Amino acid sequence: MVEKAGGSGASVPSGDVQALKNGVPSQPTLSDIDLSKLKVTLAKELKDIPKPDDLVFGETMSDHMLVLEYTPEAGWSAPEIKPYGPLSLDPSASCFHYCTNIFEGMKAYLGPDGTPRLFRPELNMARLLNSSERVALPRFSPTALLELIKKLIAIDARWIPREPGCSLYIRPTMIGTLPSLAVMASTRATIFVILSPAGKMFKVPAGISLLAINDHVRAWPGGTGAHKLGLNYTPGFKPQRAALEKGYQQILWVLGDNITEAGGMNVAIVLKRPDGDMDIVTPPLDGTILPGITRASVLELLAAHGNETSLPYLSNKTRLHTHERVVTMSELERTWQDGTLLEAFSFGTAVVVTPIARIGWKGKDIELPPYAGNHLGPVARALLERLVDIQEGRVEWKGWSVPCET
Ligand SMILES: *Cc1c(COP(=O)(O)O)cnc(C)c1O
Repeated sequence: MVEKAGGSGASVPSGDVQALKNGVPSQPTLSDIDLSKLKVTLAKELKDIPKPDDLVFGETMSDHMLVLEYTPEAGWSAPEIKPYGPLSLDPSASCFHYCTNIFEGMKAYLGPDGTPRLFRPELNMARLLNSSERVALPRFSPTALLELIKKLIAIDARWIPREPGCSLYIRPTMIGTLPSLAVMASTRATIFVILSPAGKMFKVPAGISLLAINDHVRAWPGGTGAHKLGLNYTPGFKPQRAALEKGYQQILWVLGDNITEAGGMNVAIVLKRPDGDMDIVTPPLDGTILPGITRASVLELLAAHGNETSLPYLSNKTRLHTHERVVTMSELERTWQDGTLLEAFSFGTAVVVTPIARIGWKGKDIELPPYAGNHLGPVARALLERLVDIQEGRVEWKGWSVPCET
């Protein structure tokens, strides 16, 4: 990406030719990410930071970014933290034609002592590595990349909003940069990490509206829906725009009759049981569901209620039974009609936990039960509060919140 205009041109570098002949991308027996080679160039002028209320998600970027390049000749280049700015890429680069683009979504929070904190970041690194394997991009050391991200955050720490519920969104990305139109794995790659301050995702916490559709699908058995690949999101833009025009904020992706996800978030429903306990049901990781880190955390916290911990707003006597199993639109309609559907909510790094107020399906609306003027029921409220307390370092839980000490 730093190749100068008029430089190497579109010819395929020799290492790639070798890889092409072998029919496989050359593996990094070459150098992995080397932390000791980090080069830091600080911005001469720092930007003004907008107030949290003025922030539109993903539109403001911090002062610096992290960039690393991989070539089959040399492996991973010396990492660089430098002023945020455009990349220079060959127009024939793989990412522009065959979507060799993978990413992660993480957040940095400010702890009570002012130290930046990350939430289970090793899981994001592991998932990024899985994504790179799925699209045959080069491997990398997940621990070294995490250390570099921590250094970037320490440098741009003033960008973490102080207001509770706000955070600095982190976008690690890897793109294939092989300059070739050949339909094949990209043997060259760039990793870059950029930071964007985030206010509250949905300004009204009263609950989001979803339009359930099954005429377009986000993911299918044997597809790539379980990975965070850029190519999974583009096909959703047209139906998403249509949903907005009909007055819904997001799409609820339904595969046949099976509920999968809401926009870029996992979902769960809460059902009342005859014995007074609650069932919390979320679709299983069958390859059509993105394995959310929030999803895993929600399941673990619910399972710990009443023994290892007490979640707020819920009696210790209320047993919460978690289930990873198929949830259908038919079940949603039936339990809504018979009054056993107590809550529906969605979750992911961006929103943490957000209640679902209304689901449009086959021309009518399923309205979820209201709680004190909004749709945040006790289970979603408990999870939201506990997760934010852990993320912001007020509650210690199993080492999930990692201080960014460098
Ligand atoms: C990122 C993402 C999620 C949420 O994952 P988290 O790790 O909890 O942020 C859910 N669904 C899709 C499609 C996603 O891209």
